[in-house]
Amino acid sequence: MKAIVYEAPRQFKYQDVPEPETGSDEVLVRIDACGLCGTDLHIHEGEFAPSFPLIPGHEFTGEIVGLGGAVKDLQQRQRVVGNSNESCGKCFYCLRGDFLLCLNLRAYGVTQDGGFAQYLRIKADRIFPINKLSYREAVMVEPTSCAVHGMEVLAMKPGSDVLLFGAGPTGQVLAQLLKLNGAGRLVVAAPAGPKLELAGRLAADETVAIDRKNPDKHRNRLRELNPTGFDYIVEATGSAAVCEDALQFVRRGGTLLVYGVYPEKETVRFNPFDLFRREITIKGSFAQIDAFPRALAYLESGKIKVNEIVTDEFRLEDWPKVLEHAWSRKGIKIAVIPPSSSS
Ligand SMILES: [Zn+2]
Ligand SMILES: [Zn+2]
Repeated sequence: MKAIVYEAPRQFKYQDVPEPETGSDEVLVRIDACGLCGTDLHIHEGEFAPSFPLIPGHEFTGEIVGLGGAVKDLQQRQRVVGNSNESCGKCFYCLRGDFLLCLNLRAYGVTQDGGFAQYLRIKADRIFPINKLSYREAVMVEPTSCAVHGMEVLAMKPGSDVLLFGAGPTGQVLAQLLKLNGAGRLVVAAPAGPKLELAGRLAADETVAIDRKNPDKHRNRLRELNPTGFDYIVEATGSAAVCEDALQFVRRGGTLLVYGVYPEKETVRFNPFDLFRREITIKGSFAQIDAFPRALAYLESGKIKVNEIVTDEFRLEDWPKVLEHAWSRKGIKIAVIPPSSSS
């Protein structure tokens, strides 16, 4: 089969590799599409501890074409998505039921082969059938699951004033989830352009254009909108500078959720007296492990809309173009399509 294989950071090839053989508790999925994620760009640079050689890709959808002998409740030709994260079940955190905090967390597309290929072998208990979702919508199930987990970490009071920084693929989903889960009023702040406009159409009550060259402009606008700040701020840009700046807009007693994926070595500064005096809470939200069923409920029912988020499609063999397009930040989400199994 054809696949994108990384031998080392930045060293990839579109090449023929043997079709994976499935174990008794695994299924073989013929990949229809795999979403490109910011995480894949980190893996390209060797960040997030990938295990090379590696076929990346953790936002896959496809059709079951092979079933291990012990697999029940799944069928040939079923259209599915896969939860890429897998905990060990044995470590200190797993034994407490905190599976996402697992010390030996494995992930398809990070520590073992993923979906930028024609076929993927995966444990049957990671697989979820889909019904109405198109393949373009289905590549958004994994990012939506992560956003659902973000909502449970946030544990928001109904009717809150909420500010979301970022209008990337995840930001678009978070905006809709925030609206459905308690935001009385939602402001989305991001650079001016089609992404911010889409957030306005999908969920935001108010959008504010971030001007990185002249930040006082959007700072003043945010203060004008909510002079006492916001109950909850979700930072989903992955920019340490935006994260640091966000604290000043948290209302007394409010919460900042650190959701973006930041460069591993970046730091931010905060004033501990200010946090103490204003009783500010800072929370982190990382990926997900058990949110697929809830994400699917939101997506299959049409309550969360992702169709306009997937703006671009590329063929798997055009991987350099995929990277270039992602770095250009022109579109929102890329779906990568492998050659069909007959070719
Ligand atoms: Zn992802
Ligand atoms: Zn574990």
